[in-house]
Amino acid sequence: TDSDTADEAVRATCDDASTCKRFATSKGYWTDPYIQYFVRQTGERKAPEINRGYYARVHGMNHLLDAFLKKTECNCQVVNLGAGLDTTFWRLKGINMMPKKYFEVDFSMIVARKIHNIKTKPPLSKQLIETHSTDSLLFDGHSLDSDRYCIIGADLRDLRGLEEKLKKFQLNTELPTLFLSECVLVYMTPEQSSKLVHWVADTFHTAMFVNYEQVNMGDRFGQVMVENLQRRQCTLAGVEVCCSLDSQKERFLSNGWENADALDMMTVYSILPQDDIARIEHLEFLDEKELLQQLLQHYCICWASKDKLRLGLSQLAF
Ligand code: SAM
Repeated sequence: TDSDTADEAVRATCDDASTCKRFATSKGYWTDPYIQYFVRQTGERKAPEINRGYYARVHGMNHLLDAFLKKTECNCQVVNLGAGLDTTFWRLKGINMMPKKYFEVDFSMIVARKIHNIKTKPPLSKQLIETHSTDSLLFDGHSLDSDRYCIIGADLRDLRGLEEKLKKFQLNTELPTLFLSECVLVYMTPEQSSKLVHWVADTFHTAMFVNYEQVNMGDRFGQVMVENLQRRQCTLAGVEVCCSLDSQKERFLSNGWENADALDMMTVYSILPQDDIARIEHLEFLDEKELLQQLLQHYCICWASKDKLRLGLSQLAF
């Protein structure tokens, strides 16, 4: 059916993201010793502005995630929505900054692939076993559960199914919990993403949500970005409403969240640690500085919090 084709195109975006991250790490933009186990080949060359864009995306997300872990002293949970082949769990294990439990959710088909990689690649499974107290890890085709890491196959548009599965794997609604969505909500309709955001606010009294996605898509550059995706049968269902930084914040503020902030990625790029920016800007020659600026102005990070425990989550920023 049409909707199967559409979902398949959305699932394919997971490979795009990982392939671009793999390429950028092969060029030295940042280190990720684990991504090679999910994406075998470095793949074809990506333009320097794409690599810098991924650098800003990964560092922007990591910055807020690490700030949340510090603020809660790791006495928290993390739920990565539409995680794809993301390697963040292994990064956190490596720097000894693990939450009580790290959850990932994606379509069953993606989850099955990820579990297969984990099972067959000892450097990945070793880290899981090290964080697990008994010798019985639960694996089935569509989910994996251990003490500290859990992957669940679910459709984020089906909230009842999502809640049921997260609870089955001991998601604790009393613990401060960080939700991450990196290029995910934009593939759902505005109603579907609003409901998801609302459900999180209703379910947790102390939580943070960090969302990365396209923004300011109303101009010519934005239209070209949309057309490029449509050519591959991929619709950005969420793009029209969430078109400005204000509407990004509004999605949270009108759905049960106390605080929300948003920055476009050009701004994030200009406030990330500048010594490292200087380093990456020497990795590859970038002819068209304006192209990078335009690209970065069409992506943003929005973060929202609610804080019954008064941990100071609203202070988390760049
Ligand atoms: N967050 C990862 C990253 O940034 O590397 C992957 C991003 S990829 C562009 C989007 C991911 O969201 C895909 O893995 C896709 O399968 C997942 N996704 C999109 N819509 C979803 C839905 N309704 N339910 C579950 N997963 C979904």
